[in-house]
Amino acid sequence: MDFQLNDIQEMIQKTFQDFSEKEVKPQAEAIDANKEFPMELFKKVGDLGFFGMRYPKDAGGTELDVVSYSLAVMKLAKGSLSLAAACTMQSLMGTFFLYKFGDDEVKGYFKQALDGEKIGGICMTEPDAGSDLFGIRTKAKVMDDHYILSGQKTWVTSAPVADFFTVFAKTDNHEKLSIFFVPTHLNGVHIGKSIEKLGVRGSVTSEVAFDEVKLPKNYLLGEIGGGTESMKEILAEIRIMTGALAIGVAEAAFEEAVEYAKTRKQFGRPIGKFQAVRLKMADMAVQLETARHYVFYAASLSDQNLPRQKESMIAKLYASECANDICDKTSRIFASYGYAMEYPIQRFLRDARFTLIGGGTSEILGINIGKELGL
Ligand SMILES: Cc1cc2nc3c(=O)[nH]c(=O)nc-3n(C[C@H](O)[C@H](O)[C@H](O)COP(=O)(O)OP(=O)(O)OC[C@H]3O[C@@H](n4cnc5c(N)ncnc54)[C@H](O)[C@@H]3O)c2cc1C
Repeated sequence: MDFQLNDIQEMIQKTFQDFSEKEVKPQAEAIDANKEFPMELFKKVGDLGFFGMRYPKDAGGTELDVVSYSLAVMKLAKGSLSLAAACTMQSLMGTFFLYKFGDDEVKGYFKQALDGEKIGGICMTEPDAGSDLFGIRTKAKVMDDHYILSGQKTWVTSAPVADFFTVFAKTDNHEKLSIFFVPTHLNGVHIGKSIEKLGVRGSVTSEVAFDEVKLPKNYLLGEIGGGTESMKEILAEIRIMTGALAIGVAEAAFEEAVEYAKTRKQFGRPIGKFQAVRLKMADMAVQLETARHYVFYAASLSDQNLPRQKESMIAKLYASECANDICDKTSRIFASYGYAMEYPIQRFLRDARFTLIGGGTSEILGINIGKELGL
């Protein structure tokens, strides 16, 4: 078992760490305050080859492993979880099904998405169907030479700026889920205004309505009823990446906490000299190190094509819970300054909440881990 990064992974880590430190971190506060999609930075992330990291070279990607991809996600998230969330959506769920099942026309969108020239989102969640994906009501009527798509989706990341969606729906001839490609310029696609959110406010999110949208037959991605099986192909990676997003924001908070504990003086000493603060910092270090290593472990199982369903759920559950606890402890160490909007601590705390929800809530993951244990 090898716990060292190889040369390529080291290089990826450095590239994204430098980019994040120099270009993302200085803009993170404005991205949050403006609540606008960070288009310029998003394009720069595209220039770094991030959107194609998990795709083969002959498809226009850079064909890197899941450990490298996790490193890049962590470092982007350390700079801004808003930017990282939008970029991860583009590089994984937003494009995977186009790559896997698209014909030449659909692949044209995919190729442009790898450069950040087109933006993709995924529409699964509905007002009455979140964790219970099978409860969705969006319907695709099967006609002779086309489909008619109708339904209401919500919480669609990047929807206000998207060029296309991957939409989960049920056809009228099958009870299982199917997946459709839907360019946003089609008649009947209505994108609602951005949802006001607690955190990741630069990763814009909105409702989307499909009102009898006519889709040609080639916009079905995969088989009728094949949606669940197709989703399983990237489910582990989605969870590992949500874990990596959580580690990124936790790293940012932890570094601020260490620095503050060394420099903030009370009772004539740096607060880090007080045992209560020092023990808190030690707990945070333990949480961060163990969660980070577990995310890499799950990523390396993925790279070796070994079973990883349970491990990816543990990685996501543990990393997101640790990240939220680390951000909370950081806020306590900063005390009043952790409560002030001019310091980033409050943003870390707000942003980290997202990682508890995306990729499956802790409760749903816990239930599924239990199933993997045969319970
Ligand atoms: C910032 C953000 C971005 C998002 N982006 C997207 C996106 O791009 N595309 C998309 O399709 N969706 C997106 N989502 C939606 C997300 O996937 C859902 O919010 C998530 O699946 C949970 O669904 P819900 O919010 O409806 O909660 P519910 O499913 O209504 O859950 C409510 C509570 O009940 C618990 N619960 C539910 N079922 C069970 C059960 N069986 N046992 C025990 N507890 C249970 C949950 O854990 C939770 O605590 C996004 C959400 C957020 C916050």
